[in-house]
Amino acid sequence: MTQPAFNRAFHRDNGTLFVEGVSAADLAAQYGTPLYVYSRSALTAAWHAYADACAGRRATVHVAVKANSNLAVLNVFAREGAGFDIVSGGELARVLAAGGKAENTVFSGVGKHPDEMRMALEAGVKCFNVESIPELDRLNAVAGELGKKAPVSLRVNPDVDAKTHPYISTGLKSNKFGVAFDEARATYRAAAAMPHLDVVGIDCHIGSQITEVAPYLDAIDKVLELVDQIESDGVHIHHIDVGGGLGIRYDDETPPDIGDFVRTVLDRIEAHGAKIGKTREVYFEPGRSLVGNAGILLTTVEFLKPGAEKNFAIVDAAMNDLARPAMYEAYHAIEPVTERADAAHTYDIVGPVCESGDWLGRERTLAIEAGDVLAIRSAGAYGFVMSSNYNTRPRAAEVLVDGTRAHVARERETVQQLFAGEHLLPD
Ligand SMILES: *Cc1c(COP(=O)(O)O)cnc(C)c1O
Repeated sequence: MTQPAFNRAFHRDNGTLFVEGVSAADLAAQYGTPLYVYSRSALTAAWHAYADACAGRRATVHVAVKANSNLAVLNVFAREGAGFDIVSGGELARVLAAGGKAENTVFSGVGKHPDEMRMALEAGVKCFNVESIPELDRLNAVAGELGKKAPVSLRVNPDVDAKTHPYISTGLKSNKFGVAFDEARATYRAAAAMPHLDVVGIDCHIGSQITEVAPYLDAIDKVLELVDQIESDGVHIHHIDVGGGLGIRYDDETPPDIGDFVRTVLDRIEAHGAKIGKTREVYFEPGRSLVGNAGILLTTVEFLKPGAEKNFAIVDAAMNDLARPAMYEAYHAIEPVTERADAAHTYDIVGPVCESGDWLGRERTLAIEAGDVLAIRSAGAYGFVMSSNYNTRPRAAEVLVDGTRAHVARERETVQQLFAGEHLLPD
């Protein structure tokens, strides 16, 4: 089974796009564009796909905060009892502000600052996913100062090809992430000898937008082999964290159904445990597959600009609002919020930012006029969170739709806010 194209929360009625019970055109009119719109039911449906497949098994799901860190979105997951995966002290603050619990939060990331370690130890996070010996040393020292023991897992790099975009592939030897596979056993011995660390698990995260199960199983097999070696050295591994990275459908990809994916991974790990008479907890850290298809970006066509070689539709959203096309040449489906019967033409959909790389879609055939609102689909993950203020553009507003209600999850930034912390030279 593969994932459906988009969540049912986004549907058309008489040619008009709806987000649950609210028309996208009404949202654009009321809140302005560019506007990120999320669907609560789409978020909870993706959550349940993971949680239901984990039910009755020793498995927990940690929402990767970096994919979408809006407090209202995190709160939807916190209300479902989710755990979280963070990569900074700032993300920990967001989790706590959104009603998440530190004891259900794992702290990933390759360069944790001592202040972030301190904050996480004081809050009582569930585990630090550590990526190097210097980081172990630093964490051991910080925990010692606080008179605490830090729960740690080592992120190992299984050197498997996740077959995704090079910028979002993280499990190859050439990546900056994780402890090299060959050095992992010795690194575990070093960690186990540090007085202020408590070794509890092992983790890997091989990349993002992975559309096949095979690279996960390859990575898990290698990790399980390592677990056997580490345990033969007398260090017990309580949990195996398989990371995130499951892909979604942006266009014609065929990523596995979330439930099938979870069951396949758990079956593999449980089968290994059964052979040696051990059960271990399994952690998942999904980001994109929870939020990606639960959000859209609404944008208004400013001008149609016909050209000798190309026609351009210049819209009010840009690479600063949605960086993925400029950064990864990522594809997002784009469609008018209200369909027109007129003849369609082929356009490059571009923003107003002064960069040729500022495009959102290429060669899209659409029946549109200036003033029309377009929906950029699959924008819930790595959308708003990667937005910037380049060209002094205030960041977009975010709205969370719940049934027939629209809730402002983040107000549109103002230009005044953008330079409120800047200071002229004194006289
Ligand atoms: C980014 C990241 C995730 C989430 O990745 P997705 O592709 O969004 O599922 C999970 N774990 C770690 C360590 C990450 O860096």
